[in-house]
Amino acid sequence: MAGRVTIAITVLGASGSYPSPGGACSGYLVEGAGTRLWLDAGSGTFANLQRHLPDLGALDGIILSHAHPDHWADVLGYQVVVRYIKKRKGVPTFGPPDLRVVLEVIHGPVGPHLDWTSVSDGMTATVGGLGLTFSRTHHQGETYAVRIDAGGASVGYSADTGTGWSLSALGPGLDLALCEATLEPDDAGSIPHLTAAEAGTTAKEAGVRRLVLTHFQPGVDVERAQRLGSEAFGAPVEVAAEGACFEVGS
Ligand SMILES: [Zn+2]
Ligand SMILES: [Zn+2]
Repeated sequence: MAGRVTIAITVLGASGSYPSPGGACSGYLVEGAGTRLWLDAGSGTFANLQRHLPDLGALDGIILSHAHPDHWADVLGYQVVVRYIKKRKGVPTFGPPDLRVVLEVIHGPVGPHLDWTSVSDGMTATVGGLGLTFSRTHHQGETYAVRIDAGGASVGYSADTGTGWSLSALGPGLDLALCEATLEPDDAGSIPHLTAAEAGTTAKEAGVRRLVLTHFQPGVDVERAQRLGSEAFGAPVEVAAEGACFEVGS
């Protein structure tokens, strides 16, 4: 079935650390095998999610990579919706254990509206038709990259990471990787994040077929990041922008 779309990723926000003017932080709508996941819920992503998924009841699950607020702040608004407005229980939600603590301090118990699973390194799970495999990255606090498989296609998401982790940890055969490219070249190694060249290098080493750079700190020269990432990857890379959709098929 060549050309069949099996996983589609829509960018809800691509700013790293804090939002660009009028922009949104990290977040993606992942659709495959009839299943829809909200992958990271940075500020602004809940508004953008509804552009692509007007019926919030069609959302099948949430993945939150780590406890930095540029990856989860908007889940607070979603909790309000499922508790009080469009009531719903048992929404599968995955995240590190410390983020559950943070959410419960701010907002009370996550259950029964969210069905929380605390992620650990190497853990696998299934939501609808999507297979998930988590890998702990090199970052401040427990942070989890995720591989998503459906219908013979695979995508990987680096979450936030430094060079002490590799996309190879998500296993072989990634059709597409969304990889953070937070830092300008001069800032390489200053904090546990990647430059565009480092993202290109880890993707090349992992044998990734397509690389999409994301998590750009506001002010980063995205065109230069794309050029440097492409040089390191050895092929043209793409860049995430709000509303962009990346599709892979089997
Ligand atoms: Zn971040
Ligand atoms: Zn972070």
